[in-house]
Amino acid sequence: MNIHEYQAKEVLSKFGVPVPAGFAALTVDEAVAAAGKLPGPLYVVKAQIHAGGRGKGKFTELPPEAKGGVRLARSAEDVRAAATDMLGNTLVTIQTGPHGKQVNRLYITDGVDIAKEFYLALLVDRATGRISLVVSTEGGMDIETVAHDTPEKIQTLTIDPATGVMPHHGRAVAAALGLTGDLAKQAEFVTAKLYDAFVGTDASQIEINPLAVTDDGKLMVLDAKVGFDPNALYRHPDLVALRDLTEEDPAEVEASKYDLAFIKLDGTIGCLVNGAGLAMATMDIIKLNGAEPANFLDVGGGADKEKVTNAFKLILKDPAVKGILVNIFGGIMRCDIIAEGIIAAAKEVNLSVPLVVRLEGTNVELGKKILADSGLPIISGNDLGDAAAKIVAEVNKAA
Ligand code: GDP
Ligand code: MG
Repeated sequence: MNIHEYQAKEVLSKFGVPVPAGFAALTVDEAVAAAGKLPGPLYVVKAQIHAGGRGKGKFTELPPEAKGGVRLARSAEDVRAAATDMLGNTLVTIQTGPHGKQVNRLYITDGVDIAKEFYLALLVDRATGRISLVVSTEGGMDIETVAHDTPEKIQTLTIDPATGVMPHHGRAVAAALGLTGDLAKQAEFVTAKLYDAFVGTDASQIEINPLAVTDDGKLMVLDAKVGFDPNALYRHPDLVALRDLTEEDPAEVEASKYDLAFIKLDGTIGCLVNGAGLAMATMDIIKLNGAEPANFLDVGGGADKEKVTNAFKLILKDPAVKGILVNIFGGIMRCDIIAEGIIAAAKEVNLSVPLVVRLEGTNVELGKKILADSGLPIISGNDLGDAAAKIVAEVNKAA
């Protein structure tokens, strides 16, 4: 689960991480009022969307030379102009995809004069099974570009969970950033506080870019991207309350209600699969046959008729879907039960696109017979390759 920058900074500041003062705003007047509560004379007006790269982003409704989603303002009038430009408009960044995201919320912060920008992230490193610190002197830039062009400028440290964060980790961060004296002490402090926040919130990532040195010698978090481990959210009702459903894909929000693992994609072939690995393989084989999947969908091991019906409905809500491939391995669940579920679901949703079903596992022959006898135009796939070829051919035929 991701949250907005302003929320991330509030969470981090509770753990003692230094962030500039700021206020969220939903309207232009609120933005101006927020600036009035800050010391000035420099303010930053920041679009709040769940995507980075806002500074270099472009608004689709504004001329291309217009500034992006992070703007410096030097007066209340500047703040008003920036807020008017941004609110309600669509911001396209390297992370939003070509459709961009509508800006419905701003964050007005106290602007600082920046001497240097660094990068500092904490994440769970699967290779070591530990929390890692990723540190770079190249802050304020797209870290993927740094990793690609100058990987030597990124350093990684891991923290032993038995000891937790130690002063030497902070010193290593300071050394990696070339900081000495008081700034090195601040780096040590910030590292420890970020680690506390990471563990204390069951975060899955905390990315600070930039971590800035200000002209007056302070180390400050100017941008924060924080994500939480969904498996631990039950321990953090206060964090769950920060979820902004308007930032999430409506189909994915709907799917989470039915406990379906669903991710919307851009293709034309809807996939209904049990098991995440099988769902991945299904998407691969659709691509191998020259088409694109419209979604990832794992209905889980114990999928019943109701779940399958909800999954069908979800897939068919997407107008881009031109055909559906059902790929089910009946292990715990018997194929005949699944076949009955598919038929009931297909009838209930009035299926209007071609449907190819590949069943395998317990009672597969009975399952196939039930499908064949149903009178519905369901095409049976003999195996995964055959099923994928058939659905792609059906969709191409219809096009
Ligand atoms: P992002 O583009 O979505 O990553 O948004 P950021 O919050 O990282 O802002 C982008 C850039 O704006 C930063 O890398 C800074 O260079 C600049 N910026 C952000 N806050 C301030 C500030 O308080 N003062 C100054 N001078 N620049 C800022
Ligand atoms: Mg940033």
